Amino acid sequence: MLQKTSHYMRQANLIGGKWVQADSGVTIDVINPANGQKLGTVPKSGAAETRRAIEAADEAFQGWRKTSALERSKLLRKLHDAIMDNQDSLAELLTMEQGKALFEAKGEVAISAAYILWFAEEGRRTYGDVVPSPWADRRIIVTKQPVGVIAAITPWNFPSSMLARKIGPALAAGCTAVVKPASQTPYSGLAWGALCEEVGFPEGVVNIVTGSAGEIGDEICANPLVRKLTFTGSTEIGKILIQKCASTVKKVSMELGGNAPFLVFDDADIDRAVEGAIIAKYRNSGQTCVCTNRFFVQAGVYDTFVEKFAAATAKLKVGPGLEEGTTQGPLIDDKAVAKVEEFIDDAKSHGGKVVSGGKRHALGGSFFEPTVISGATPKMRFMKEEIFGPVAPVFKFDTEEEAVRLANDTEFGLACYFYTGDLGRAFRVMEGLKYGMVGVNEGLITTVEAPFGGVKESGLGKEGGHQGIEDYLDTKYVCIGGL
Ligand code: ADP
Repeated sequence: MLQKTSHYMRQANLIGGKWVQADSGVTIDVINPANGQKLGTVPKSGAAETRRAIEAADEAFQGWRKTSALERSKLLRKLHDAIMDNQDSLAELLTMEQGKALFEAKGEVAISAAYILWFAEEGRRTYGDVVPSPWADRRIIVTKQPVGVIAAITPWNFPSSMLARKIGPALAAGCTAVVKPASQTPYSGLAWGALCEEVGFPEGVVNIVTGSAGEIGDEICANPLVRKLTFTGSTEIGKILIQKCASTVKKVSMELGGNAPFLVFDDADIDRAVEGAIIAKYRNSGQTCVCTNRFFVQAGVYDTFVEKFAAATAKLKVGPGLEEGTTQGPLIDDKAVAKVEEFIDDAKSHGGKVVSGGKRHALGGSFFEPTVISGATPKMRFMKEEIFGPVAPVFKFDTEEEAVRLANDTEFGLACYFYTGDLGRAFRVMEGLKYGMVGVNEGLITTVEAPFGGVKESGLGKEGGHQGIEDYLDTKYVCIGGL
């Protein structure tokens, strides 16, 4: 382990500037998914610790809200630099708790830093308006102010960058934060506390609580001091949180599940489509909300695509994330593997054919072979359900209309991808797909400059882009009379 990795592996909550254990002293074990070994523990906190964290954030907000945008921007720039200075250690920590290949972990840390830098810049541009007044003796001014204390609940698949795009805009806007990282991957979340402390954010501006999701979540939703909840996770939990936040009418941002389609038309550049398919399917071993869930390929190129895609899939290297050359780390836990196996069995029982992979990897544990299934049909479970694993079902279609209809036949609407060489088709299909994000002849589209987010049951709100800071701001209208 790199020397700095253990420095950033904090096994305590950060509340009001103090690193503390749960009141009960009870802890949760954190397991390395590559070898099943215990990495360490984190506090199993509940409502009381969460309430204290919210109160600390509220107290810190009284001072933080008065700092200038430039001051906050300078601190965020320092945070960006600190992340990049420690990129190797933070990536090692991320791989140890999450499993992903080290090069992907390094990439995630770099994009985390990029989000912080982006919002350091955007925070200085939260302009208001001066509106022409209908009255000769009055003026209309519209300003933006931080919403107050925000809470962020994040998942295990991107434990660093999912927090970056919440903490970044929150701090830039002048909000303070209470963060609950996923229990499987808490250390990358807790490292944010250590980094913020080191670069000089005041105590209580960022608070981090680990532990019981239900208890922490309930306190966050019920506590009137929290003015916004930002959540990334499953649609199932997102719906519960939206309901619970109704009691205190909080702003909510929800980045929920996806069921991304990937369309390949007869006129596409097939090699480019295969290259895009590999990254859009197998990044993080298929465990991202924008990973392709369903491939739809037009009849004329179906066999060629399947053959080339299966050949490219077979070249991926499964192994522990820290091992040189690994492209595919383990799945997060055995439950995830069991789900993938169920999906494959279901596909086979409906006539699907495994053309690459198809079973647990010889390495054992939660390693799984990247898998391509041909002959997929809408009867199979992955037509409707998120796989969240390295399985690629390939459906066949005949017409453009049919492809768009199948792609839209889901309650989700996060990311989608399609490949075509026809400009008219590119516009028709792009406009027809009911998704928040579209990759045209591109399989990897996330970047800090663009608004990330879904429609339908994939969520509410945008992260990144100039839109990403809006949800952390309240608009205030001021009428000045008697001029
Ligand atoms: P995943 O399937 O990716 O684990 P979840 O939606 O279950 O997605 O989890 C995402 C995050 O939400 C995690 O931090 C998890 O601990 C948290 N979470 C799970 N259940 C609840 C809940 N009832 N209230 C608040 N947060 C929750």
